[in-house]
Amino acid sequence: MIAHRLCLLTAILLGPVGAAGPVSPAESELLASISANTLGGHLSFLASDLLEGRDTPSRGLDLAAEYIATQFRRFGVEPGGDNGTYFQNAPYLKITQPMEGFRVRLQTPDGKSWESTGAKAMAVTSEAVNARELEVLKVTIKDQDSPLPSAEQVHGKAVLLYVAQGASGAAARNRALMTMKPAVLVTYAVVSPTPFRLRPASAPATSAAPYIVTSDGDFSRFVDALPEGETPAKLTATVAAPVQESILLRNVIGKLPGSDPELRNEAILLTAHYDHVGVSTRGDGDRIHNGANDDASGVSTVLALAEAIGGRKQRPKRTLLFMTYFGEEKGLLGSRYYAAHPIHPLRQTVANLNFEHMGRTDDSEGKREGQITATGFDYTTLGDALTAAGAATGVGTWSHPRNSDDFFARSDNQALADAGVPAITVSVAWIFPDYHRPGDHWEKIDLANMEKVVRTVAVGVSRIANSDTAPQWVESHPKVKRYVEAFRKLHVAD
Ligand SMILES: [Zn+2]
Repeated sequence: MIAHRLCLLTAILLGPVGAAGPVSPAESELLASISANTLGGHLSFLASDLLEGRDTPSRGLDLAAEYIATQFRRFGVEPGGDNGTYFQNAPYLKITQPMEGFRVRLQTPDGKSWESTGAKAMAVTSEAVNARELEVLKVTIKDQDSPLPSAEQVHGKAVLLYVAQGASGAAARNRALMTMKPAVLVTYAVVSPTPFRLRPASAPATSAAPYIVTSDGDFSRFVDALPEGETPAKLTATVAAPVQESILLRNVIGKLPGSDPELRNEAILLTAHYDHVGVSTRGDGDRIHNGANDDASGVSTVLALAEAIGGRKQRPKRTLLFMTYFGEEKGLLGSRYYAAHPIHPLRQTVANLNFEHMGRTDDSEGKREGQITATGFDYTTLGDALTAAGAATGVGTWSHPRNSDDFFARSDNQALADAGVPAITVSVAWIFPDYHRPGDHWEKIDLANMEKVVRTVAVGVSRIANSDTAPQWVESHPKVKRYVEAFRKLHVAD
């Protein structure tokens, strides 16, 4: 703490960062292009209403991709995508479930019934359902010790699943039930309607059973009155087959080959997601989720690094890959796709610095000026590298006692970490007032602070890229065991 404060004072006394002291003259030149105006320029376009919240897939997302590619081209960064372009094309299926003709009816011999024609229901199925008078099994999950029926009991029947609120282990038991091949599974949940699903075109079609969710309270009351296990009820259901549309989703990749004949074989990934959650279908007033901090700020960071480092005559020793992902908000889709289809071998990919929430300083827990943090801050040696860069540029680093661990799986670094690559997500704020709300506007970004922290990151990246030693997992850390194992597997494979 004191050391950082002293450095900050030195920087102020000596003028611009890097004029003397710990930032070298070469590093100082590197920082010249990183300015609040440049960052604000990227942010104000990417988070404009025109791009309609950059949902995956959408025209707004495509506009963002084209903008990012245009910037890479302008900075003289090489295309890192397919066929000499900046785009890595990921074939996906967009699957919509027609609800026309949807009907599910439950009936008991004593004349009680419940019926849905789809108004408060959602269906996930890989083929049409036309079932008549199925036997009905009721399964209640109260906690992780609630017994599940056997596969024989479930097979071919209609399962009515009741999950007690807050039941632990419910998701895993739900999945286990689905693998027992019921004819159909119906459950109660408050569902926010998802108009479509996305699946990689190469992934096998889901073989799991048809799954129906309803938020109709009458369904709960009907199920409540039934005995646990085998019931006298019968179920009849008609659900249309899903409609599949082939689409291409795109990661946008710029490449800066390393200058050292040996170290250029090692790559560092600098990443952020360029998608966000789109436009709300309901609500008054502003419904566009602009996603300025989440994650136009991360994309702007990647672009600023590409301009700063790509624009220098003396390239770093290691290869840098500047990459922005689609579909993070839909479940890390772009990064998972990249990890399965890397353009540089993963075993020669020595680090991934992913960027999220780089712009706002109004963290819900308090103001975060002049500081950066990271998920898995002490999982890898990257945290120390950031701390050293911060000491040189007057920016403090810190680890959140809970979020640094808990948020590790909540962004694209996870896909690379799972593959064994030392990977963290760098941020300024964790949660902020407009998180995943329409109010995440670019005007709320603290651009002066962002200039400062992105300059720190640039110094850190430059040093990591030129260092004799590559970043490492901190093997003694209890939470990195699985990543160290993945790292070993990756390096044994050749
Ligand atoms: Zn995000």
